[in-house]
Amino acid sequence: MLAARYLGADRLEAEEIPLPVIGDEEALIQVDACGFCGSDISIIAGTHPRARAPLTVGHELCGRIVQMKSSSGSLRPGDRVTTYPLISCGDCHACTHGNPHVCRQLQLFGFDADGGMAEFVKLPVSSLMRLPEEMPGTIGALIEPLAVAVHGVSRTSLEDVQVAAVMGGGPIGLLTALVARSRGVPHVVISDILPSRLELARSLGLRAVSAGADLKNLVMELSHGDGADVLFECAGSASSAREMTSLVRSRGVIVNLGVFKKPVEIDMQAINFKEIEVLGSRVYERKDFQIAIDLAMQLPLEKIVTHSFSLRDVATAFSQFKRGKDCKVLILPGEHES
Ligand SMILES: [Zn+2]
Ligand SMILES: [Zn+2]
Repeated sequence: MLAARYLGADRLEAEEIPLPVIGDEEALIQVDACGFCGSDISIIAGTHPRARAPLTVGHELCGRIVQMKSSSGSLRPGDRVTTYPLISCGDCHACTHGNPHVCRQLQLFGFDADGGMAEFVKLPVSSLMRLPEEMPGTIGALIEPLAVAVHGVSRTSLEDVQVAAVMGGGPIGLLTALVARSRGVPHVVISDILPSRLELARSLGLRAVSAGADLKNLVMELSHGDGADVLFECAGSASSAREMTSLVRSRGVIVNLGVFKKPVEIDMQAINFKEIEVLGSRVYERKDFQIAIDLAMQLPLEKIVTHSFSLRDVATAFSQFKRGKDCKVLILPGEHES
C-alpha cells in the first residue's frame, strides 16, 4: 500500500510499504481523508523530540473499518470511524486522576507510532470512534482539530461571556471561534496577520480584524473599554503572548491553545493587577471528540479545507501547507491523480 512516510529531516515521500497485519483488538481502516497539522511540520523538519524515521505521519483521519479482530464493542467492519489518537501510560498522576490527555509521557499515532496518512492504517479498536454514515470524509478528517477547539472552549465557563477574542486565524483559531459562536457568545472576534486568513474567517461569518491595534480597538469598543471576557490564544506567537494580557478585562480568562515552540515574554504584572486567569489547553479528552462529532455537521467546515491532494502528491501537498498561507490541507488516499 501507499503511505506518506517521514524518512528523515525534510524528507516526506509517498512510499510503497506492506499492508499492516492486525492483531487482537485491532482494526484495519481504509483511509478516506487525512489532514496535515502544524505539528507535522516539526516532525518532517526533524525537530520533533519524539518522532523517529521511518514513520507514517497523520493523526487527523477518517475512514472505514475493513477488517477487525475484536470480541467486544459495537463497531463492525464497514463502519465509518475516526481515531482518538492519544496513547497514555496509565500510571502517572494525570492518568490515574482522570486526565490521560495530559499524561506525563503522552504519545500519539502519527508521532510515536505509524499514523493514518496512508491507504490503510492499523489502529486499536479502543481508539476508534464512529462517524455518521452521511458525514463526508473531508469533514471526518476535521473532527480531531475540531475536538481541540471544543476542548479549549470547555476549559472555561462561557456563562455571561459577551466578548470572546481569538488570536490566530489558522484552523484551530477558526474552529475555536466557530465553537464559541455556536455556544451563544454574542461577540466573537478573531485576528490574524494574514489577509487571506481574515478573508476566510469573514466567509465563515466571523468578525475578523488584523492582529495588533485593530484587534485591540474592536475588543475595547465591544466591551466599553473593559477588555474581552475570554481570550483564546491560538497563534502561539511571541507577539500574541505579549499582547494578550492587555486585551482581557479584570478577572478575565486567557485560554492558551497555540503551541509555543520556545519560551516567550508575558506581562505578569497585568496578570497580577487584573487577576487574570491563564489556562492551558492541550489536545482533547474523549468526550470532546464525541461533542465534535455531534457538532461538526452544524458548522460551515467545508470552507476550512482549502486544498486536497492525492497520496502520490504528498510532498507537493506538504510544501504547499508549510508555506502557511492556506488553511487545512487534506490528503485523500482514495483519489488517484489522472
Ligand atoms: Zn492535529
Ligand atoms: Zn500517564
